[in-house]
Amino acid sequence: MELSARIATLELADTFVIARDARDEADVVQVEVRYEGHTGFGEAAPIDRYGESAASGLAFLKCSLDALGNDPFALEAIGLRLAERPGEQAAKAALDAALHDLCGKLVELPVWRLLGLPRAGPPTSWTIWLGDPDDMARRAERLGDRFRRLKLKLGGRDGADVERVRAVRRVTALPLQVDVNEYWSLDEALDALPQLAELGVEYCEQPLRAGDEGGVELKARSPLPIYVDEDCHTLADVASCAERAHGINIKLAKAGGIREAVRMTHAARALGLGVMLGCMLESGLGIAAACQLASLCDHVDLDGNLLLADDPWPGVELVDGVQLPSAAPGLGVRPAPER
Ligand SMILES: [Mg+2]
Repeated sequence: MELSARIATLELADTFVIARDARDEADVVQVEVRYEGHTGFGEAAPIDRYGESAASGLAFLKCSLDALGNDPFALEAIGLRLAERPGEQAAKAALDAALHDLCGKLVELPVWRLLGLPRAGPPTSWTIWLGDPDDMARRAERLGDRFRRLKLKLGGRDGADVERVRAVRRVTALPLQVDVNEYWSLDEALDALPQLAELGVEYCEQPLRAGDEGGVELKARSPLPIYVDEDCHTLADVASCAERAHGINIKLAKAGGIREAVRMTHAARALGLGVMLGCMLESGLGIAAACQLASLCDHVDLDGNLLLADDPWPGVELVDGVQLPSAAPGLGVRPAPER
């Protein structure tokens, strides 16, 4: 096999604001794996919260050729060889996606069929990034009927988080989910969650800092399901998440790829946990990998490519609010023609 990798900068349609960050563009790593005349493509977004950057991901990929060996279908063995070098989960996810794309193209089947899964999934949420309550409500109101649920970014540290939800609730009847990105204390969560439950919020993502010792108490006392994201990266984290949450948010960029993500869904089910599938700011190439396994999940937040000014990797189809993978072989996306 041959391998090449690069950093791509994605331009966002609007400035994206969450509790710890604001940005107009996002860097991702993209990788190509060539074998017997076919090319597999993969992408993932390194997460700075975990000490990864596009540069560190690219450096990892440039040293990964030896781990590939000469059989693109030997995904388990390749994964074990890559795991010998710790960290760089996004780079590993990009490589895993490229190998799945390649395998699908070699046998002329979409990846969801290789996985034995249907071309289906729950509707994606649309992210309303953090802003003043009125501003968030205006953005929710403008959406029309493209999306069937909204995910509100909270954690403003200004005492206005419940008001943010209340303001959005006034302008829409859509199901609401919230993501606090670790910015509440246990006391703040115990105060806010009953009010959010009254506003009909479906669940709350990562209210407390990852590893916060109040997590067990919060799970016991919360009137809403708690989903963890920053607390849950790979299969090894799932069992401890069951002590502090009702569900986990799986992202390929944290898990290291489709194979680990599938293992995590099964572990979560064995522990009675709900499963959410999330994403970072990614092009359709990254989103295409995630939506292959959306049918295994209860909730899906795969709007990354829809937040871009222009998706450079079209192919994923938004149908009645669901991000459907293409029926074309592999991940089913291809680069958009240069403008
Ligand atoms: Mg999150």
